Amino acid sequence: MRLSRYFLPVLKENPSEAQIVSHRLMLRAGMIKQSSAGIYSWLPLGFKVLRKLENIVHEEQVRAGHIPMLMPTLQSADLWRESGRYDDYGQEMLRIKDRHDRDMLFGPTNEELITDIFRAHVGSYKDLPLTLYHIQWKFRDEIRPRFGVMRGREFFMKDGYNFDLTKEDALHAYNRHLVSYLRTYERMGLQAIPMRADGGPIGGDYTHEFLVLAETGESEVFYDSAVTDLTFGDRDIDYDSVEQCQAVLEEFTSKYARTDETHDEALFNDIPEDRRRVARGIEVGQIFYFGTKYSEAMNAVVQGPDGKQVPVHMGSHGIGVSRLMGAIIEASHDDKGIIWPEGVTPYHCGIVNLKQGDEEADAACDALYSSLTALGLEPLYDDRNERAGGKFATMDLIGLPWRITVGPRGLKNGVVELTSRRTGESEELPPEAAVQKVAEIYAEL
Ligand code: ATP
Ligand code: MG
Repeated sequence: MRLSRYFLPVLKENPSEAQIVSHRLMLRAGMIKQSSAGIYSWLPLGFKVLRKLENIVHEEQVRAGHIPMLMPTLQSADLWRESGRYDDYGQEMLRIKDRHDRDMLFGPTNEELITDIFRAHVGSYKDLPLTLYHIQWKFRDEIRPRFGVMRGREFFMKDGYNFDLTKEDALHAYNRHLVSYLRTYERMGLQAIPMRADGGPIGGDYTHEFLVLAETGESEVFYDSAVTDLTFGDRDIDYDSVEQCQAVLEEFTSKYARTDETHDEALFNDIPEDRRRVARGIEVGQIFYFGTKYSEAMNAVVQGPDGKQVPVHMGSHGIGVSRLMGAIIEASHDDKGIIWPEGVTPYHCGIVNLKQGDEEADAACDALYSSLTALGLEPLYDDRNERAGGKFATMDLIGLPWRITVGPRGLKNGVVELTSRRTGESEELPPEAAVQKVAEIYAEL
């Protein structure tokens, strides 16, 4: 993409409505624009990152054997009356009447809808196990929308639902989700710690929240510092293996890590004092096993091997895709702007032309652009007629992890400059070598 042809409405001033850094930087970098409280338009740069996050979530869900689909945002109230949640959900649910005076709602989550689909089409244990998911906009009329996309009213969420014959099978689905979530967050350059949580209105005995540690997080968390040493890395897990998934769950959840809702002071005090941590975190996901709560209420039964009809065991699993963007920025920025992890960066590499209009510099930039593109990478080329200082400030603000700077002086010596956004370190090297190096960095992902 050439910046002269793009739509990147960066702000020079700090927007006064933003209380936390991620919100401020997303507004300044021209990624989002508020349309009403807690509701945002995703401008091209923000949209690009949102799609990247969505893709990672899709890839990891499919890898785990889960099946993508898409359910509507608007739902009929009738299904929610069946489950009993139409009244229980309270004011967070946006209720709408259609022209026939029928009660509708903008879905805050999809347990009812998916259970209705399931009972219409599945009748036998032979069709199990089954895990369906979608990534779709949700609406919750939050009492205090704030912090930009972190606590929106309209937000983008992956929600998945497993259907199993037995509790054991459903717990395997639970463990499988935990593994796939660990992988998902790590690919986004994030450490998200699974913590024992509370069931809330969705209900359930087994539930973990995934938290990214950040001072601006809304949840108070208590943990053994040993949990922050754990990384999933590039392990090759067989998602069908009950033992392998169970082992990962045990590894990542056996140390103390809890949200304030489930915190137990006595257990916490058993941890050696120098490892006890009280901090704040951003909830970027949650997994639940809730047994037959919805299947019994909504009569989602299958015929078991013995011919008897039994309600299915279910769980639901959510990732806050739009909130993740804020969480990543909270975890990765400096005073100049965002620093995208390579896995989610909107463009792989910036190209800054120090002397637009100089024949050689223009030609060198065009050549870099073509070489990077030919290797499947997406460069963002700042070809505007602007001062170098302004171009650097924009690149630093929008946070592309790598930048190639091209100027007549360097070109005389046959070199360009490759700069890491994270470390600020630069090296001079021939243009082809710079392209090669950037390509290698991304090939490792
Ligand atoms: P919270 O406690 O933050 O209100 P929740 O526990 O009600 O969230 P879930 O039902 O578990 O949310 O939804 C799954 C994920 O969706 C959450 O882990 C979070 O990342 C994201 N999410 C929930 N509410 C919002 C919101 N208002 N804005 C953005 N993301 C949200
Ligand atoms: Mg939650």
